[in-house]
Amino acid sequence: MKRYRYVYGPVPSRRLGRSLGLDLVPYKTCSYDCVYCHLGRTTDKTVERREYVPVADLLEELRRKLAEGKKADYVSLAGSGEPTLHSGMGELIRRIKGMSDIPLAVFTNGSLLWKPEVREALAGADLVLPSLDAGDGELFRYVNRPHEEVTFDRMVEGLEAFTRGYGGQVWVEVLLLGGVTGIRGEVEKIARHLARCRVDRIQLNTVARPPAEGFARPVTQGQLRRLQEIFAGKTEIIAPPAADEDRPPDPGDPDSPASSGDAVMALLERRPATSGDIARGLGMHTMEALKRLEALRAAGRVETVSTGGRTFYAVPGHKRL
Ligand code: SF4
Repeated sequence: MKRYRYVYGPVPSRRLGRSLGLDLVPYKTCSYDCVYCHLGRTTDKTVERREYVPVADLLEELRRKLAEGKKADYVSLAGSGEPTLHSGMGELIRRIKGMSDIPLAVFTNGSLLWKPEVREALAGADLVLPSLDAGDGELFRYVNRPHEEVTFDRMVEGLEAFTRGYGGQVWVEVLLLGGVTGIRGEVEKIARHLARCRVDRIQLNTVARPPAEGFARPVTQGQLRRLQEIFAGKTEIIAPPAADEDRPPDPGDPDSPASSGDAVMALLERRPATSGDIARGLGMHTMEALKRLEALRAAGRVETVSTGGRTFYAVPGHKRL
């Protein structure tokens, strides 16, 4: 069977349910180098927009994947870098919408929304999920380590301009770091910027996967709940509680019997995951996921790393620990 290079999943997404992902740029091609990034440090920090991956190849793979008839709540443009760097994103969105009724979401760090052509390219998406992790330039540079062309003022003005002109849903993720941005004074600054935007949901998150830098620490659930009150409008916490690992899988998933070691590897090549993540993503029992993960570990294809009391499986060398 022909392997997929750019399409992956459906994967479990805390924010979207089952998400069928398209990877629009090569691994760690990004305008940011976030200290909390679970993919490790950015290897190609850029703001150059170009056709990193041929649009025709992306569409061909998606067509093939959709023909398999797997259930997905969203087709999402995301993956292992910043998707708005792809210069063909607008055309891609239009053509995907012509091919499927599944809602289309775009995960973006929001760094390029000050460019009119990026705002235009996103116009056809149903849902855009930008990020805002800091309330001023100093902490923006500390947390997101942006490309030099992406100043804080440009970025927040772009976010405001985009949300005011866009007709779809906007869910903004705010990822807070313990002792850095996860404190009242800093969150109030973030909230003031978001108050100028048209946002449907604010989603609070913290470090939950092995970060690029060991000093990136999570905020506790209790602190997240206290900080949540600062925001006006619909705000929710999307950071996983530690006990979430034991959430039961979906035993009735028709994809379950077909799930193989290759399917597990395809998920882990995108991001480190717990056995619970794998079980939910592939619709198998947690014990079955553990069995497959341990077999892959014994074969040297994956390794484990602990973060926040949770054990993650990852492809060796895929990220910095
Ligand atoms: S978290 Fe996202 S925006 Fe930040 S460096 Fe990683 S891929 Fe880029």
